[in-house]
Amino acid sequence: MTPRRAPSAELRAESLREQIDEANYRYYALDDPQITDAEYDALFRELLELENAHPELRTADSPTQRVGAVASQRFAPFEHARPMLSLANAISPGELRAFEERARKVAGGVVAYVCELKIDGLAIALDYRDGSLARGGTRGDGRVGEDVTANLRTVKTIPLRLRPSTAPGPVAAFLEARGEVYLRKSDFARLNEAREREGLPVFANPRNAASGGVRQLDPALTAARRLSFFAYQLATEQTIGSQWKALQRLKALGFPVNPNIARTESFDDVLAYCAYWEQRRDSLDYEIDGVVVKVDDFALQERLGVVAHDPRWAIAFKFKPREARTKLLDIVVSVGRTGTLNPNAVLQPVQIGGVTVKSATLHNIDYIESNDIRKGDVVVVTRAGDVIPRVVGPVIAERTGKERRFRMPGRCPVCGADVDHPPGEAMSRCTNAACPAQVFERVRHFASRGAMDIEGLGDVMAQQLTELGLVRDIADVYKLDAQSLGHVPRTGPKSVENLLRNIERSKGRGLGRLLYGLGIRFVGTQTAQILAGDFGALDAIEQASEDELQRSEGIGPEVAGSVALFFKQRGNREMLERLERAGVAVTAPKRERAPAGKLAGKTFVLTGTLPTLTRDEATGLIVAAGGKVTGSVSKKTDYVVAGDDPGSKLTKAQRLGITVLDENGLHDLI
Ligand code: NAD
Repeated sequence: MTPRRAPSAELRAESLREQIDEANYRYYALDDPQITDAEYDALFRELLELENAHPELRTADSPTQRVGAVASQRFAPFEHARPMLSLANAISPGELRAFEERARKVAGGVVAYVCELKIDGLAIALDYRDGSLARGGTRGDGRVGEDVTANLRTVKTIPLRLRPSTAPGPVAAFLEARGEVYLRKSDFARLNEAREREGLPVFANPRNAASGGVRQLDPALTAARRLSFFAYQLATEQTIGSQWKALQRLKALGFPVNPNIARTESFDDVLAYCAYWEQRRDSLDYEIDGVVVKVDDFALQERLGVVAHDPRWAIAFKFKPREARTKLLDIVVSVGRTGTLNPNAVLQPVQIGGVTVKSATLHNIDYIESNDIRKGDVVVVTRAGDVIPRVVGPVIAERTGKERRFRMPGRCPVCGADVDHPPGEAMSRCTNAACPAQVFERVRHFASRGAMDIEGLGDVMAQQLTELGLVRDIADVYKLDAQSLGHVPRTGPKSVENLLRNIERSKGRGLGRLLYGLGIRFVGTQTAQILAGDFGALDAIEQASEDELQRSEGIGPEVAGSVALFFKQRGNREMLERLERAGVAVTAPKRERAPAGKLAGKTFVLTGTLPTLTRDEATGLIVAAGGKVTGSVSKKTDYVVAGDDPGSKLTKAQRLGITVLDENGLHDLI
């Protein structure tokens, strides 16, 4: 009996279509989804089921009849010679079984499958003419996508030329490969950290960041995202006969193919593969949201065909969602190792991907304000692998009016010192160098090479000393003796002796390095050396007004404000007195005062990663020899020191004919 259509079914279908259309627009056009993928999938399934039960409700413009969303007008259209399809989903082993039964029936016997990871990025098509990348485009609505060739050329793992030498047989004059552009988790973390520092909104997940990256109008912005690529389909050369062989051929042609692919004739193996990767997804440096199971044989694929926009020869097994909704009960502030005040969400406990989540990060006040997150809101929370859970945003429709806005405290919740929030900065910070929450990081920095250079007091030792309570602030470093160091596990008399000798030596490093070692916000090696040279003594800097500080070269209101705020803290002043009493030099030796070294008057720019020196160390060397380091290349630049992965600064230097040095060249010069 065919079910009768309830009058509300039509209304429900209409409402579902509206919600899905809106979600598609936000997801595909804006790269800024407002609902979770699981919520989207639930709406989509409900609509599909409704339309299956009442076929007369199925409209031609229903989202179930289309792939993705219409391409944006910002790019030239990219027409697909063969449609780029979507995939039907299975969310349980039972649904996978139904897929395999159908395939077996059509095949009339055993079916071989290829299992691939479902990379969470965006699908693209790449056209090669005579072995060279000619065009690249997004999927769009499956028929017409966006021509993003210039952007895709910046993705390092997309081959610009094929490698016919390693691939057997001739390469067709026209070849089309398809695959997924994605962002590694490590690159995603770096990208969001940088955006946080610059006060820009952070991305919800690597997929949105990758998709937004591919669809930039300026290819330089795409390049900056460091996107990656995996190929998984050879859309031409169908005579190759099977998906497995196509993957091998893609690899031979120079495409990156995911190494975790498997071919099997046993469906139990397919289920085991899905279970295995659902467990191990966190071990990968990229996000996967499921497994794609494909019928291997192309002839059988052809016979199975396509229904609406989903091929019947492939299915996406979706992992359990790692996003959920829950109530934001409160916002509490913790203090990080560098003094940043980190707002954290206290959540009504909720299950996300098999883990109970009770708290999540909210990044900073800008994030809370720009996403309009309020205490008492129902929020979407996501948990991606090893990354700590994060509040994505509020569900505005669930607001009752009782929600309250959050304000950052004016004093450090750990030690009560003033909190600084420089304009344009994302993070608020505690200004007390002796704040217990920050001791480890402060001590580590103080002892580092560019600062007081105390060999033997590296990360591990700094951690032990602070954990054992032997060092509560940097001045305590000079209180250490053989007896107290005897309490540190795995430390012998010889290393204790060495460490004490190195601590003693560090006392004479001079005011510039001491100032840098204090870890005052915005005071890098160069600023520290300039202040030391101009003021000559710690006292003089402590007593200087912000205006006086600004008379020094390159010191603007931000730096002056930060220095003044540091010296205003009573705790900091007391700590400096103890440093002085311990015999640490708080004046500038002559050399620091008049930078007349070999590099006097020369301006340097650093770019890329140097083989042994950090940026601060290289800057320290240059400044100590009388030179100056600036951030951008201009006609006034004398030298550019370039390491690995140099940025556009190197290109600019070459264009202007500026001398480029490597690390050895810098050493030679000095
Ligand atoms: P899909 O993501 O379910 O599956 C198809 C896609 O998988 C392909 O286009 C390709 O990009 C990708 N893929 C990754 N690895 C692959 C591999 N090895 N082989 C083949 N394909 C591979 O389908 P879709 O149509 O791209 O997107 C629909 C999904 O997008 C929804 O299920 C939902 O999760 C998400 N979505 C979310 C929202 C939202 O608002 N949150 C809105 C729209 C869509």
